[in-house]
Amino acid sequence: LPRLDAAALRADFPILDQSIGGERLVYLDSAATSQKPREVVDAEVAFLTRANSAVHRGAHTLAAEATELFEDARTAVAGFVGAEPENLVWTSGATMSLNLVAYAIGNATAGRGAPASARFALEPGDEIVVTEIEHHANLIPWQELAARTGAVLRHIPVHDDGTLDMDAAAALIGERTRIVAVTHVSNVLGIVNPVADLVALARAVGALTVLDACQSAPHLPLDLPALGVDLAAFSGHKMMGPYGVGALYGRTNVLDALPAFLTGGSMVTTVTLDESEFLPAPQKFEAGTQPVSQAVALAAAARYLDRLGMAAVHAHEREIGRRMMSGLRGIPGVRLLGDADGAERIGVASFEVEGVHAHDVGQFLDARGIAVRVGHHCAKPLHARFGLTASVRASASVFTTEDDIDALIDGVSAVRAYFGVDA
Ligand code: PMP
Repeated sequence: LPRLDAAALRADFPILDQSIGGERLVYLDSAATSQKPREVVDAEVAFLTRANSAVHRGAHTLAAEATELFEDARTAVAGFVGAEPENLVWTSGATMSLNLVAYAIGNATAGRGAPASARFALEPGDEIVVTEIEHHANLIPWQELAARTGAVLRHIPVHDDGTLDMDAAAALIGERTRIVAVTHVSNVLGIVNPVADLVALARAVGALTVLDACQSAPHLPLDLPALGVDLAAFSGHKMMGPYGVGALYGRTNVLDALPAFLTGGSMVTTVTLDESEFLPAPQKFEAGTQPVSQAVALAAAARYLDRLGMAAVHAHEREIGRRMMSGLRGIPGVRLLGDADGAERIGVASFEVEGVHAHDVGQFLDARGIAVRVGHHCAKPLHARFGLTASVRASASVFTTEDDIDALIDGVSAVRAYFGVDA
């Protein structure tokens, strides 16, 4: 496996070429949002300055060029997750993708959509299964769907070491389960969940599977059709692409049968004042003007990551993650969240410094040029499970070096003394 030269890759990311308060920028917040290689920025600028125009309509040359770039982007981003272009719906991001699915199922429950949609209709007492570690984006849409339909939301608990309780999952996923919605990788714990096993449990009872791939798409080789999930969501800005663009992947039969969510222009065949007919997927789910320049730039991000090789990206970040975990583990008063022995992980470590508020840790590190995330990371139930309201999260990217991690460990080692907390 070719190894990444992280120090050399820093040069691809213009933002890293600056100091923060006189200190070298150590960016350890890629799980919140990723930095962009120059070629992604260039791709968006090139589109806006050379090809910008409305896609899928208009007879002029620029419109044709923009349409081609937009549809090529779909093919590239779909290919990045092992899928065909017709299985990729553009959205504004993972939150929108997950809401789209939840609202579409709500529409099926209300009797909207083609006859085939009836298979998604929920009845009171039907169960939606999530996990205790979900990001709010893969939790609240299901709470809302349950409230609208009378379905019951249940959750797979997490062990003290951050791994899912798969015995509980096997007991929980049963005859009444209609939907299993889980994250591939926790944005707090960085642990890769056994998705194939969860899919097998869901399939055995005929439940629909929905994967939150926000933290896996940018960090591991991902083949969504091979994983066997029905639907999956991810965000462009977390995988070196722009804000405001993301995707919903869906198996063909699922996208075909799922009712539309948003309606309006660009998603219809015939429209009268009384009723309308919709285009097939993916256009059925793409009402209104799409994030075209962002999609084109996201394709550039997918090409950049593909060129590095996702196996090499994963290997590098896993190694950096190990260094981060073992360094943090050795600091008195530091408690790691989800310190599972031998678990498959990405380069994410969340921790508490006993006696010091996470925000103070974050500010202390910022004064050293080190950017980390503090707070609940949109996973309040997971923090409650570990008896916390906030934690500090460090997360790696392809440009993260051993020096960056040593700076983090040095910084965290000095926190308790600085705040006068006894070690
Ligand atoms: N799920 C996970 C696991 C995430 O990490 C995030 C972003 N923090 C989201 C969902 C939501 O993504 P977005 O805000 O880009 O829609």
